[in-house]
Amino acid sequence: MSLQGKTAVVTGSNSGIGLGVAWELAKAGANVVLNSFTDRDEDHELAKTMAAETGVEVRYIKADMSKGAECRDLIEQAGACDILVNNAGIQHVAPISEFPVDKWDAIIAINMNSAFHTTAAALPKMRAAGWGRVVNIASAHGLTASPFKSAYVSAKHGVVGMTKVVALETAQEPITANAICPGYVLTPLVEAQIPDTMKEYDMSREDVIKNVMLERQPSKEFATVEQLGGTVVFLCSDAATQITGTTISVDGGWTAL
Ligand code: NAD
Repeated sequence: MSLQGKTAVVTGSNSGIGLGVAWELAKAGANVVLNSFTDRDEDHELAKTMAAETGVEVRYIKADMSKGAECRDLIEQAGACDILVNNAGIQHVAPISEFPVDKWDAIIAINMNSAFHTTAAALPKMRAAGWGRVVNIASAHGLTASPFKSAYVSAKHGVVGMTKVVALETAQEPITANAICPGYVLTPLVEAQIPDTMKEYDMSREDVIKNVMLERQPSKEFATVEQLGGTVVFLCSDAATQITGTTISVDGGWTAL
């Protein structure tokens, strides 16, 4: 399928799932705006490499998704925004009574509030263009819970709820809004959780991977960033025109349990 002529903005896309999604969208022909809160040479190099390998236009725009004004400014700077992938996210693991307030605020801001700001700024552009796709990268934790992840689970449930509202508000327009709910994908975000989880459960790294992370993933395999990217591309295809306001789990059977 070709997304030629479309512009995709992927928040939090200099690493992990966002980067994988950006690659698949670029390979499908969309021009891509990469984003994170850093402004390093390697961020801009990433854009150059992706453009050279896929032949589409790729820009890197620095914007901190913990700040509402910067979220909105990202969409303004992008110019067109036909496909919006709200992916930026962070994690912190601690029992709720000890959960640091600054971590709670940051997770709610980056993982949930940013999607409100970018969507609010992007919808007028999609309406003007006569086509749009909002894809929120939620989580299996947008549908179920785990201990020690109060902020993350709250933010991801919030994103799933927001997705439904956006879908209803755009239901009679050529715009769809959906959430993808991945199970565990081995990215830097997951890698960073391993030491904390080892401490919480007093387990070795191997036991955390097998008995905590993939314990609830019946396939016993991590999902890949390419699979997530392919799911986003599918949601941008004509076949997905009537798919709106729903969640697609890419979780090896986790939420079937
Ligand atoms: P990651 O750490 O590899 O990537 C997170 C991205 O967000 C990075 O590009 C980072 O730079 C960016 N980011 C962080 N704070 C930001 C900020 N303030 N402003 C702008 N960008 C910021 O993690 P990932 O695993 O690829 O996670 C991506 C998304 O997928 C997150 O929303 C996460 O909750 C979700 N998710 C991940 C998994 C998994 O197993 N990895 C599972 C379910 C959902």
